[in-house]
This record gives sequence, structure tokens and C-alpha cells, in this order.
Amino acid sequence: MISAFLFIAFVSAALGHEQDGAQSTLYRNLPAVRSLADLDVADFFDNMESGSLVNMKKAGPGSFNFEVQDNKIYGYQGTLMVWFYGMCDLRNVKVEAGDKLKMALRWPVGLTHVRPVYSYDSINWNFVPEGWGRDGDFFRFDLPLRSGESRLYFATHYPYPPQRVLERAIKQAKNPNVRSIETIGRGERDRPTIMLTITDPRVSDRNKKAILLSAGDHPGETASLWGMEGSIDFLLSEDPVAKSLRKNAIIYVVPILSMDGSALGTDRRQATGVNIYFDYQKFESREARYMWETVKRLRPSLWLDYHSWHLGTAEGLYGPHPKVVGADKYAPVKPLIDAIGKYFPLKQQSPDTLDSPNTQALLKLGVPGFCPEFNFGKGANGEWKSMEDQRVLGSKIIMGIQDYLNGLN
Ligand SMILES: [Zn+2]
Repeated sequence: MISAFLFIAFVSAALGHEQDGAQSTLYRNLPAVRSLADLDVADFFDNMESGSLVNMKKAGPGSFNFEVQDNKIYGYQGTLMVWFYGMCDLRNVKVEAGDKLKMALRWPVGLTHVRPVYSYDSINWNFVPEGWGRDGDFFRFDLPLRSGESRLYFATHYPYPPQRVLERAIKQAKNPNVRSIETIGRGERDRPTIMLTITDPRVSDRNKKAILLSAGDHPGETASLWGMEGSIDFLLSEDPVAKSLRKNAIIYVVPILSMDGSALGTDRRQATGVNIYFDYQKFESREARYMWETVKRLRPSLWLDYHSWHLGTAEGLYGPHPKVVGADKYAPVKPLIDAIGKYFPLKQQSPDTLDSPNTQALLKLGVPGFCPEFNFGKGANGEWKSMEDQRVLGSKIIMGIQDYLNGLN
């Protein structure tokens, strides 16, 4: 039997005593000192949650070209050709003043309406410096290095990894207004989709309305995932609107439907290449099947399915349209769009297709609903929108729901 002290010493040695300044080289053999010019494709990773970048090539010292996810793996359906999220391992790199990585995607992949972001810890994010954007055949951006930082993360726009939903659920489970957190199904690669039930436990359910909120059909649409986070936090807050809604409604929330896609870093596809959003007639995906079962079970008074637009700068309201469903069927959706739409700073309204969730719920079950569309472009004030902007819009959607319910009474 070895002593606890020896055991700790042994484990510490095995773990390589990772700490700032004396970083471990245990999992990869690295030279004791490296320079920016030494960095190579092997120093980049996309095998973390939501990670996505492929075909990385070194174009010169500190200069790299790469591509977004290959359609061969996840099919073409729903490809946005924009989502990337990678990490560069900078251990043992001696950073000089002004050092930066020069990154490039071959145009037309990339974006002109969204500004890429970078981070040293995957939590606190910064916009890439001015000078980013299209340059001939490439979309380019720079990543500033900082002395003492052993990692550099970069993405199309602020990521929202799926473990955030699970980490938050651990805390939410203790909230008295969270009645339950259940698994409504498992994706094609078996990751669980969870649903929160939020209501005031002191008030009987008898006259409560059922409300369904969902997000994350499309994992790369992270503006809407931040928006959903804002909606949930507002629903659990002490704001008078939230308190009133908890008394009068049972709110069911699916924070991310495609936990698989979100983990794998797909843009609008789940793990077997299906765009869930257009799968509510064929039901090829497990995700659409168990989401539809959930809608049928709950028969909510309304269903909002959160999404994001990447092209252009507008937020919007996308959903059943009189041209597709007819004026009579559309009539109950209009007051809902009006009540929530007045909180949207930029409003774009577009029709949905017949195979989309809200249109099918309206036609088959009489459930009114639409897709609030979030956006990481520039806002009405000309500033780039932040994660907090999305969270605020998420809370305003809840205020719009309250207004809509008041209008029904
Ligand atoms: Zn979408």
C-alpha cells in the first residue's frame, strides 16, 4: 500500500503538473520553446464540443487556410457554409509583441454579415480586429496572440456548446419553479434532448395554459441559443411578468433539440445529415419524431421554435403564412406574431414551407406558433450584436407571450 502523499506525488507527476508557465507536454511532444512560425496544422483542433474546421493548410509562417465542414460527412441539406469553430494549442510558444495568426477561408465560404470572434478560454470572447472580411478569393481574419495564454479559440460567431445546457440544468434542477427536467428523446448518436417544465408550484394547474418553447434544430444558429438562454433566465427571474406567467402557465422548454448536431459542430444538420426543420412530414430523423410526439402530448396553446438568420442583419418572424396555409388557418397566428413582433428591433417576416414544424402543428393540431429569428449581425444602432443582446431579446419574447395571453382574455 502506498501512502496518500506518494500517491498524490505519483498522480501529479503523471499529469505533468500543468500550470501557467510550465505547461505539460505530456499528450504531445513539443519543443521546450516554440515560435509563431513553428506552429503547424497539427496544432489546430476541432475535436471539442461544437468544433468544426477541416482541411487546414499552412500557407506561411503563422498563416493558415481552412474550410468549413465537409458535405460528404453530413450531406448537403441545410448547409450554410459558414460555421467553423477551432482551437490552436499554443503551449510553449514564445509570443512576441504583435504576433497574430492570419486565417483564411476560400470565398464564398465565410461571411460578410457576421464578424468572427476569438477567445483565450472559450468563455470570454472578442471580435477579430478590423481588417477582416472578403479579400479576393478569400475570407480573412486575424487572431491576436497574447503572452501567457496557452490556447486560442476562434469561431464564426459566439459558440454555444451543448454542455452549457447540461451544466445549467444541474443548477436549474434546484430551482423551486422548475418542476421537472426530463429527457424527451435521444438523437441519432444518442445524446439526450432535455426539456424543462417551469411553473409556480403554489398555484394549481387547473387553469394554466401550456406553452412550448424550443431551440436548436439548427446547431450553428447560436444567436437563437443565447436568446433561448435569455428566455429561460427571464422565466425563472423575479420580474413581475415572469412571476405572473408562472402562475398562469406551464412553460415547457427544449433548450437544444439537436444535441448531437450541436456537439458535432454541424450548422443546420443533425448527426445523420437531416435538416430537422424540414422533416415534419417525412420524419426521417429521430429528433423530429420525438419533438412531434412531445407537441402532440402537450397540445400547447402556442409553440415558438427559435432560429437565427446569418445572412443580412435582421431579426425576424418566420412561420406559417396565409399563402401556404390559407387565411383562415393563419388567423390565430397573426395576433401572436403581432404581440411578440413589437419587441423586435428589426423585423423581417417570411413564409414557411409546408414541412416545417410550426406549419404542421398549425395544420394538424391547431397549435399557433412561429420562429423568432435572432441575428449576430449589426443591430439597429449600427453596433455588432452581443450574446447579451440575444439574451435581452429572449426575455422580450416572454413579455410578448404575456401580452398575447392578456389579449386572449
Ligand atoms: Zn434555423
